[in-house]
Amino acid sequence: MAETIFDKIINREIPADIVYEDDQSLAFKDINPQAPVHLLIIPKVRIATINDLKDDQETLIGHLFTVARDLAREMGFDESGYRVVMNCGEQAGQTVFHLHLHLLAGKPLGWPPYTDRMKQA
Ligand code: 5GP
Repeated sequence: MAETIFDKIINREIPADIVYEDDQSLAFKDINPQAPVHLLIIPKVRIATINDLKDDQETLIGHLFTVARDLAREMGFDESGYRVVMNCGEQAGQTVFHLHLHLLAGKPLGWPPYTDRMKQA
């Protein structure tokens, strides 16, 4: 798959507000936050979408969730609540084709998590 902007963040070729890093993953603030806390948690290895996941990457994906859990606890919103979202494909709103978890918190988030554009049309 092609390189994305997230590879440039991993390689420090462009700046990002990085809040966590380990050998498998990186977490940084979203440039266009949709909530008071909006982090992106990404694997360092390039995987375009959920559709491209290999069976042997289950542990890696689980790791993204334990990073989300730990960040929620450290940042103090584990009890008040938060949302993790992974968009897959264009209709779900995926714009960067390097798989990532959104971690959103800091306000009531509402449900469903989308705007029904068909009703607006
Ligand atoms: P998606 O729409 O693919 O689920 O989420 C991609 C996210 O990446 C968006 O929320 C967008 O604001 C964020 N994003 C895109 N480019 C950059 C960037 O250069 N830096 C950071 N920190 N976030 C970005």
